[in-house]
Amino acid sequence: MSDIILLCRFGEIFLKKDNRSFFERRLVENMKRATAPFGARIERTHGRILVEPRADAVDETVAATARVFGLTSLSAARRVPRTLEAISAAAVEETRAALPSLPTPCTFKVEARRSDKRFQPASPEIARLVGAAIVEGLGLPVDVHKPALTVGVEVGFEHAYVYARTVAAPGGLPVGVTGKVDLLLSGGIDSPVAGWMAMKRGCDVAATYFHSFPFTGDRTKEKVRGLVAILARWHGPMKFRVVPFTDAQKALRDAGDMRMAVVLYRRMMMRVACRLARLRGATALVTGEALAQVASQTIENLAAIEHASDLVVLRPVLGHDKVETIAIAHRIGTYEKSIEPYEDACSMFVPKHPELHAKLDKVLAIEAKVDIAALVEACVAGTETMTVTA
Ligand code: ATP
Ligand code: MG
Repeated sequence: MSDIILLCRFGEIFLKKDNRSFFERRLVENMKRATAPFGARIERTHGRILVEPRADAVDETVAATARVFGLTSLSAARRVPRTLEAISAAAVEETRAALPSLPTPCTFKVEARRSDKRFQPASPEIARLVGAAIVEGLGLPVDVHKPALTVGVEVGFEHAYVYARTVAAPGGLPVGVTGKVDLLLSGGIDSPVAGWMAMKRGCDVAATYFHSFPFTGDRTKEKVRGLVAILARWHGPMKFRVVPFTDAQKALRDAGDMRMAVVLYRRMMMRVACRLARLRGATALVTGEALAQVASQTIENLAAIEHASDLVVLRPVLGHDKVETIAIAHRIGTYEKSIEPYEDACSMFVPKHPELHAKLDKVLAIEAKVDIAALVEACVAGTETMTVTA
């Protein structure tokens, strides 16, 4: 083990009074799972969770921990004895190590905090003394209002911790605390972001992809599986299902009104997704639908589609401009995969001028000509399920 300890901070779960210990336990479990490949040890103390990385895997452990929902930030700290000499020496060392990535001259301030209030001197005096040591050792200017670097000191009951490197974590709630949802995942930009946003709100997410082989080839399926693997970095192992959708799509396309085809496909996806979701006790569907982002994403069409779902449909990116969704896709690592080219079933299955204001009675009249129940059964029966890890 190294003398580096990750001090992990959590935000919102503090507020959830009744659920706090449940949330915290879940958070620690998720952190254990995320860092297990690197052999880290995890410990809870006063208002912090400490991760003790293996000496040869500090950076990997920082990166994995910084993707755990529920954490707001973490600092890679040096653990030292509780003396001002040791604290000051470590502060100079940590500051020196942080300098190459900061502007010159680098302004700084020291923030001190004591969990053990018996420790003397008090926090402001610790900050002043440690700051003086950094000025003396490295000649950096102090700026208490807008420093380029904040050096932290925390005095615990057994050790002190000193850091100059703080990394943002995604915040939100620990995956699993708000329930299970099933994501309809296509190869596009929006639906992976929608899934990530559901995870951020504490959802345990499985992904379902509707595959129209051979009109969409196996490369597309691999692409979508690749997206699941990226999402799994944040979520932990994810269940991924591939539904054979070609026969259902053909039947619906040929049912009489090509303009209505997209709404009919989506309704079929809803039905099948609901069936699969219930198999694992999921209580909601998640889609990447937005409003008016493509011409057919009208309120009427969303309503006609949702009507086929007997689970609540969540649309986390509904209010985003495309640029906002793209910014998140970049941040979470899905963008590059999402824009990889792939064959679309478009020309064969998607009309040039899709219906923009689907009327439910018309939709139902077309569906009455098709054996919907049999198509759903066939889709469910043919579904391939796997678990995808990061
Ligand atoms: P995305 O970029 O996520 O594909 P989009 O803006 O292209 O979204 P649509 O193609 O209209 O929007 O699809 C709307 C939503 O329907 C998607 O976000 C996704 O949740 C779901 N969806 C569409 N096609 C599929 C599919 N083949 N498999 C699973 N879900 C799908
Ligand atoms: Mg799409």
